[in-house]
Amino acid sequence: MAIQSVGVIGAGQMGNGIAHVFAQAGYDVLMTDISQEALDKAVALIGTNMDRQVSREKITEDEKKAAMARIKTTMKLGDLGQTDLVIEAATERETVKQAIFEDLLPHLKPETILTSNTSSISITRLASRTDRPEKFMGFHFMNPVPIMQLVELIRGIATDEPTYNALHEVVEKLGKTSASAEDFPAFIVNRILMPMINEAVYTLYEGVGNVKSIDQSMKLGANWPMGPLELADFIGLDTCLAIMNVLHDGLADTKYRPCPLLTKYVEAGWLGRKTGRGFYDYRRDVPVPTR
Ligand code: NAD
Repeated sequence: MAIQSVGVIGAGQMGNGIAHVFAQAGYDVLMTDISQEALDKAVALIGTNMDRQVSREKITEDEKKAAMARIKTTMKLGDLGQTDLVIEAATERETVKQAIFEDLLPHLKPETILTSNTSSISITRLASRTDRPEKFMGFHFMNPVPIMQLVELIRGIATDEPTYNALHEVVEKLGKTSASAEDFPAFIVNRILMPMINEAVYTLYEGVGNVKSIDQSMKLGANWPMGPLELADFIGLDTCLAIMNVLHDGLADTKYRPCPLLTKYVEAGWLGRKTGRGFYDYRRDVPVPTR
């Protein structure tokens, strides 16, 4: 089946980026969220990000207009029922994702491929709660989606070959590169990245360094383009904590225990850039370390 229309669930950091790249590649995009404000913000942000691409001569003004015209929004999840491919990119909580699939399934065409952009949750378990485990896959984009080249493709135990091949082709059409990962907690990128970020938070918690010295050390000493704490703020500390919990629970190894300081920041609602404060305070022009 040729994929022409794509439904995106969740208009947060990832949802808006996913809508952006699919619209630019010629797909019709229908995006939904429980918050109208999130939908409005996402469309405005996509416009701003495409303007930047125009000013850098990556795309023309006409291409921007055509791509923006392909993006529609709705508050009704059921409206996504007619799309050929659904990408769930809502909050990283299994109960949230399961409830979404439960509400969506009665509206879906039988041939629609269902995917989740989850960073860590078991694809096999999510798939088993649907009516189409063979047409269910992990479709893991990286943040920021328009910039990052990689997409992880994660098969559940029941995913069939045509579904895998269809998504492989979609990634090529987006001009991106796919990597196959087996369905184990956090897949490849986050299995490696998140314990490194968690270790940076432990380094801060134990007073080995402060925010500035830790980030500077990894930038200048390990050639990371961004420090681990800066990167955690960028990803969202709630998402980082959720991924560590999935690793800890799923692999039952204490080496994955989330740092108590990470938990404390999340409890404070200091979730990073998206809430204006995390390991840095972003409420002024220049980010200021909070420790
Ligand atoms: P976010 O907090 O920026 O956005 C989540 C959005 O989901 C919000 O707009 C929220 O209103 C919406 N939402 C919540 N419940 C919903 C529902 N029932 N129906 C529709 N929308 C709902 O989160 P994010 O960073 O965009 O992450 C989304 C997903 O992408 C998560 O599964 C996360 O693990 C994954 N992911 C995140 C990153 C990252 O760097 N942030 C990278 C790759 C994958």
